[in-house]
Parts: sequence; C-alpha cells; structure tokens
Amino acid sequence: MTPTSPPAASPEPPKPSALTLLLLAECASCRTSLPRLRPGLCPPCLLALAALAPGRVGLRRAPPGLPPLAAGGVYGGVLRRAVLAYKEADRRDLLPQLGELLAGAVIAHGGASALVPVPTTFAGRRRRGWDHLAPLAKAAARRLGVPVLRVLRARGRADSAGLGRDARLRGAVDAFAPRWGARRRLAGLPETASLVLVDDVATTGATLAAASRVLAGLGRRPVGAAVVAATPLWDEIHPERLRRSALPASTWS
Ligand SMILES: [Zn+2]
Repeated sequence: MTPTSPPAASPEPPKPSALTLLLLAECASCRTSLPRLRPGLCPPCLLALAALAPGRVGLRRAPPGLPPLAAGGVYGGVLRRAVLAYKEADRRDLLPQLGELLAGAVIAHGGASALVPVPTTFAGRRRRGWDHLAPLAKAAARRLGVPVLRVLRARGRADSAGLGRDARLRGAVDAFAPRWGARRRLAGLPETASLVLVDDVATTGATLAAASRVLAGLGRRPVGAAVVAATPLWDEIHPERLRRSALPASTWS
C-alpha cells in the first residue's frame, strides 16, 4: 500500500451519478485499484480501520459544557483519508465502515436510547453540496437499533473548516437552537432515555459543547458525545483502545 495525499476539497464537488458510484474502482484512502463493483476500501485499508477500537477520549482544555466524548479512532492515516473522501468527495460507499466506527463510539458510552446529530451549518452544506452527517447518523443508528432525533438546528454562521481553536470556540457560542417541536419530541421520551450527540470529527469540542448546552436547556443533557474521529489534540484516556497502528508517524508531530 502506498499512502497518497488525501483528495483535495473542491468548493462544489460534482454529484456522482448512480452509474459513477457503481463503477468506482479505487480505494478511497490509498487509491489502489479495486475490482469493479467493489467500491470502498482496499483490503489493507479495511484492515487498518478494523484495527481501530472505539473508546473514550479527553481534552486538556475542554470547553464548558462538553459532555464525555468517545471516538471511533484518531483523526489520521487511513481514517482521516476515509472521512475526507466521504465528506468532500461524496464517497457514500464508505458509510458502512464509518457508521460502524460511530456506532462503536456510542457503545463506548454504554449505548444510547437515541442519537442527536450536531446540525451541519448552511455554509458547510452549500460548500459540499450535501448534508454529510445525516446518512452517517442514520447508519450508526441502524447498527444500534435506535432512532435519530433531529431536534437541533444551526443558526446562520460560517463553516468552521479551516478555523483555529479560538475562532472555533467563538463561532460555536450560540451556534445552535432547538428545532420547531423539539421540546415536545424530547418530552415524549421516557425519563430514563439517554441521548448521545453525534458528529463526524471532534476538533476543539466547541460545537459539541454548544449543541450539548442547547439540549441541557431543553432538560435533556446528553450522556455523551460520539464522533467517528477525534483530532490528535485529544488526549487518549484508553490509549490501548485507540490504536495508532493505522497512523503515519507524521500525524503525531
Ligand atoms: Zn487502500
């Protein structure tokens, strides 16, 4: 396997047709040629993802209101390239693997009664041309046999891609609000229902903390947050569970 650069983000990624998806024949991570009709990842990249074991992670400078966090793995190597290919190049053929890792992160919290996706910003949706988190949350929820509760909405703000920690923290304050009918939907849940916030990547934890504060304001503080991948800014609480085997050394510099 020869690692290559991740696919470059384009402002408006072309929407692949069903036929294009059917004919995809390269690994989304290392771009090794794959037999036609077998999209996704090549066997070595699949093995690298399978070696990841989701677990709890912590942050030294956690923003106020951040619930306990679990990640499918560290954002680097094969996992980073797979997440980028999924988000920026619309590689929905990676949903089974990424959904499985997100479900694993939820299980690290002891499971959930329902998953609450962090809303994607309008700017992010427009840049990518689609809401990448909704199918991911659905894939994890299907795997866990629980519902997805879309009870939050994003207020108008800039996409956080490319922003530094302080800018993300500032931008995330009041970033979310309850969707119409959210209070009623949440009130319909049993008292013991446990909610887990889900997102694709945790960088500073700012958006997860902001979303958690809105849920807490509705009387439903989430028991945790789960992401497919956490950036190396995060300290590992269970280093043996978030294996570095899939990461190039440069990820940790
Ligand atoms: Zn590969």
